This record gives sequence, C-alpha cells and structure tokens, in this order.
Amino acid sequence: MSSKKHWSPGAEVSVQCVERSDFGGWIVSGSLTPSGICPDCGLHSRRRHGWRRRRLQDYPAHGEEVTVDLAICRWRCLAPACPRRTFADQLTSIAHPFARSTSRVGEIVSHLGHATGGRPAERLLHRLGLGVSDYTVLRQLKKRAQGTAKPPTVIGIDDWSWRKSQTYGTIIVDLERRVVIDILEDRDVVTCTNWLKRHPEVKVISRDRCGLYA
Ligand SMILES: [Zn+2]
Repeated sequence: MSSKKHWSPGAEVSVQCVERSDFGGWIVSGSLTPSGICPDCGLHSRRRHGWRRRRLQDYPAHGEEVTVDLAICRWRCLAPACPRRTFADQLTSIAHPFARSTSRVGEIVSHLGHATGGRPAERLLHRLGLGVSDYTVLRQLKKRAQGTAKPPTVIGIDDWSWRKSQTYGTIIVDLERRVVIDILEDRDVVTCTNWLKRHPEVKVISRDRCGLYA
C-alpha cells in the first residue's frame, strides 16, 4: 500500500491501482476522500448520489506520462432552503476547476514557460514525460499572470518564442516581484504600445537588447 501512496497527487486521494495505459504511460486509479459539504449552504450531506470521474495529468514517472483517474463522490443536498439539489466534492487542493492537469503540473509548466519560452518548454516537458503543447504553456502563463493583482511599476519586456520557434510573442515581467504579468501573442510595437497605454502606472521599462522595443 505504501508504494501506491507515492502515486497519489495529494493526501486526500487514495490510490487503488496503478496500471500501464494502452497508449504508453501510467494510469493511476484513485478516489477522493468523500466530504459531502454543500458548496452553497455549507451543510454536511450523508445522502450519496453516485460518483463522477475526472482525469488529470500528473507528474510523470520514469519519463512517461501519468494520468490520474479519480472517482469523486456526488451528493444530494437535503437542506430545504438550499437551491442546490446535487453537488460533487471539490478537488481544490489538487486541481483548479476544469483544469486538465494537477496544479503541481501547472506550476512546472509555467516555470519552464517563463524560463525558456513556449516551444523550448514544450520540448523539455516532452522529454520529461509531460506531453503539453506550447499553447498549453502560453495558457498556463496567462492564467498565472491574471492572478497578479497589484499594478506593476517596474517591468521588463522580452521576446518569448512559441509555435515551433517561428512565432515570437512578448513576455512582460514585473521586475520588482519577479513574476510574469502578461504574454502578448506577437512582438509588434503597436501591441506593446497599446499594452503600455492600458498600464499608465508603469514607470520604468527594461528592454531586451535587440532594439525591437526601442
Ligand atoms: Zn446545500
């Protein structure tokens, strides 16, 4: 049992079995510990309404993809005043709603995307057993960027390669907090100028050396 535990994406997931997938890689079948707390009224339900399944890409193992196939309990809310009739347990500590990978995979994807650009990140991730496209890298970076609330005042602007290195976008970094704040899908001067117009709070801009943003 302890070896199965190593395949779990989080403490609240118990792993039932680990198998080879038909397409290579591994399938980890597990279930989320049932909690039964209604997200609307907060009351605890004891009336089960079945299960739903959710598949998530997780950390690779031995250089191969790992897919977690999770059974998540559905419940019936019996509170008379609650508008919600049924609900499923939430996976919040493991994955965001509608995400196709675990949050820890999302972290790796955005760190690599930040460091290397979309296409190089895609290649590296593939070698590590994380098959994601450069679109996914871009999406992940943008998602992280949206989570940054405080307006930036000191920024860095640089090229960011994606789509088989034939396309360059622009990465904008908050240099004080060292976080990506936006990714523009091209490196056009007009796009960049428009972005700066929408962010009048920016006081200092550090540019790359090739002169495209001069
Ligand atoms: Zn309820």
